[in-house]
Amino acid sequence: MRPAAIAALLLAVAVAVGWREARWPTASAAPAAHVRPTAGRPAIVQRPIPFGAKRRAEMRAYARRHYGIDDFHLRTPKVIVEHYTVTDTFQAAYATFANDVPDVELHELPGTCAHFIVDKDGTIYQLVSLTIMCRHTVGLNWTAFGIEQVGRTAREILNRPAQYGAVVRLTSWLRCRYGIALRNVIGHNESLSSPYHRENVASLRRQTHGDWTHTEMTPVRARLGRYRCAG
Ligand SMILES: [Zn+2]
Repeated sequence: MRPAAIAALLLAVAVAVGWREARWPTASAAPAAHVRPTAGRPAIVQRPIPFGAKRRAEMRAYARRHYGIDDFHLRTPKVIVEHYTVTDTFQAAYATFANDVPDVELHELPGTCAHFIVDKDGTIYQLVSLTIMCRHTVGLNWTAFGIEQVGRTAREILNRPAQYGAVVRLTSWLRCRYGIALRNVIGHNESLSSPYHRENVASLRRQTHGDWTHTEMTPVRARLGRYRCAG
């Protein structure tokens, strides 16, 4: 056989082997063990609360007073805060957020709200545009999305697979869409330790709530960590 013919034969063998390996990857090359769910957009039911010119002006005044930001827009979301409603129904939480009156705790306007409420059956409702600040966490409203879950304790939500699953899918999708780090998905009770926490009103600098403690959030973050961002 001439050298050229030998080279052609070797090339043909190499191509055939390469083709076979591409068609039938070996077990060690198979990605099955590393496949993680991607964070796709979950089904979201739009149920906007009234957020007209008056409430926007109130939100802007709040942002000026508490953060020194002259704007009601949420421009650089870096944090997602998980909450539970301390109500038994979606309707009760929705009614509280829809009503633009001073809140019972701090007596300020606009009324409190959250971008989303996840109901007990896993239905995800969006109440507020993702481009607008919402009053849900003192010190973080300037940069945080708020996700409320209908329930009275974290344990209750962790034990409801449909609701917990919906919270994880919604949080993962939001996190990936806005490039929010996993460590910045926090529970309301973790607000004071966030590096993004800021508050100009001295009497509110240590104010937080009891919902979703660090211990309660630890399994949630572990589960969120199993999702990868698409693309
Ligand atoms: Zn809360």
